[in-house]
Amino acid sequence: MAELQGPEAALFDFVVMGSGIAGLTFALKVAAVGTVALITKKDRSDSNTNWAQGGIAGVMAPDDSFDLHLQDTLIAGAGLCHEDAVRALVTEGPERIRELIALGTHFNKESDGDYALTQEGGHSRRRILYNNDLTGREIERALVESIHSHPSISVYEHHLAIDLAKSKDDDERICGAYVLDTLDGEIRTFLATRAVFLATGGCGAVYTHTTNPAIATGDGVAMAFRAGAKVANMEFIQFHPTTLYHPAARSFLISEAVRGEGGILRDRTGRAFMLDYDERGNLAPRDIVARAIDAECKKQNEPCMFLDITHVDAAEIQHRFPNIYARCLSYGIDMAREPIPVVPAAHYMCGGVVTDLHGRTSLPRLFASGEVTCTGVHGANRLASNSLLEGLVFSHRAAELFLTNTDHTPPLLEHVPPFRPYRGRVRVADTEALKQRIQTAMTKFVGIVRSDQRLQQAATALQVIMDEVDHLYATCRPTEDLLELRNLALTAQLIVRSAQQRKESRGLHTTTNYPETLESENHDTVLVKRKRTDFAVVGEL
Ligand SMILES: Cc1cc2nc3c(=O)[nH]c(=O)nc-3n(C[C@H](O)[C@H](O)[C@H](O)COP(=O)(O)OP(=O)(O)OC[C@H]3O[C@@H](n4cnc5c(N)ncnc54)[C@H](O)[C@@H]3O)c2cc1C
Repeated sequence: MAELQGPEAALFDFVVMGSGIAGLTFALKVAAVGTVALITKKDRSDSNTNWAQGGIAGVMAPDDSFDLHLQDTLIAGAGLCHEDAVRALVTEGPERIRELIALGTHFNKESDGDYALTQEGGHSRRRILYNNDLTGREIERALVESIHSHPSISVYEHHLAIDLAKSKDDDERICGAYVLDTLDGEIRTFLATRAVFLATGGCGAVYTHTTNPAIATGDGVAMAFRAGAKVANMEFIQFHPTTLYHPAARSFLISEAVRGEGGILRDRTGRAFMLDYDERGNLAPRDIVARAIDAECKKQNEPCMFLDITHVDAAEIQHRFPNIYARCLSYGIDMAREPIPVVPAAHYMCGGVVTDLHGRTSLPRLFASGEVTCTGVHGANRLASNSLLEGLVFSHRAAELFLTNTDHTPPLLEHVPPFRPYRGRVRVADTEALKQRIQTAMTKFVGIVRSDQRLQQAATALQVIMDEVDHLYATCRPTEDLLELRNLALTAQLIVRSAQQRKESRGLHTTTNYPETLESENHDTVLVKRKRTDFAVVGEL
């Protein structure tokens, strides 16, 4: 049980922020050796994890190998993957997946009892385990059930971490987080004797069109950056090539597995165009497919392209993609009989808070895992279905540090600065218009194809917005909307600043000013905070 230190602070061994695959995995493992506060800003299952459709990659088939998975990941990453991180991912992945299965996660099986494996873009073998087209929901269910009633884990739903708490001692270690209870409006300090763990996921909401749920507002990256952590490779935002084009569909994702099972991208006339862009055709990696769709839309002045799987048996489609089939049908599209209209949308943040292979960030006592991090696994482009795996593998690696080592330092409350005064503030900021301005600037100027001029336009617009947000933060009541807006604005700035550093086109970063991939640019883009709005660029992770 937590040893309460007063109404405004609580002490645990571990303070974990985020209840997706990364946070839940870490919490579950370290709960064997200490008390855990699991802080999550909505309901416990509100996460990108819960929305994952396609599956989780792992070497399982006899014709597959760690080297093939490694090579596929390195090729997708366009020269920027860290091979040691990828090797850890692919070699330890299958064991971690078996642990998930032992926890009660169900993956589809063939009639002979072997796990069914599908293939996705960029994978040279069938190696994706899945649960129909709701794999993430199944993983989240199993993990949430496992933490439920765990005697060492206290779950704080509707608690939004605002900022990391740093000790006033010389070592400036991270010793907790200031957290808003979004139901009663109170702010409490959660303190950790052993580790503060960030698992807050990605930032799709910086764009107008995103596959991500509303929780993905870049909070973890922004919090860590404000606290002084290194953040890397934020220019590499993955756009999912195929989201449903329909005014009411809010960028509903059409899984890559639809192409894996034979789906063909066509234009309105029925012409299949992917072979014009890549010899792998419809199974080319996401960035190539997203750029191809973007290019065809622009060339033909069309709002969308079409994904055609009508040549596959209707019963098979309904069995394999029940969720996608039902959602499309609810919008009047029967994917077994007609092609699905699709457009790309912001999907995944390849960069993030820099960690080593055990989740250590550049700040003492701050650890991180999952989409919020930059471990070096994804490089300039993530290979499909490697991200659930990354959260699983690197949360385990981080937890391992604590299973053997019993070192802990209780932070003294008097050494932790109190959260800045906020009581008595009555003004509630109107955030919606500012949020839309961020999303519009990012969508217009920092999308799939960029240029120096567009990036500068975005930087200028975002600085004006940031100044307004800072003013609101200094004068208004800290509400969920305002805190998320503050994080969205900073995350957008980090993306733009990183993109401005990269004077080439590579992976997910394409710019018309520098269309070539250059050997001289074969390095990570690492940013740290110097002063309030000053982004210093440092050379290495
Ligand atoms: C539609 C969709 C389909 C996908 N399909 C696949 C797939 O098939 N295979 C694959 O590998 N990947 C897929 N991905 C990507 C994958 O789902 C994510 O990268 C992965 O789940 C991230 O896990 P995570 O634990 O790092 O973060 P998340 O699962 O996003 O969890 C983040 C958690 O942090 C909480 N949080 C955020 N900010 C705060 C804060 N300030 N305070 C407190 N809590 C906070 C959130 O509420 C949430 O609980 C998909 C993503 C989407 C959106």
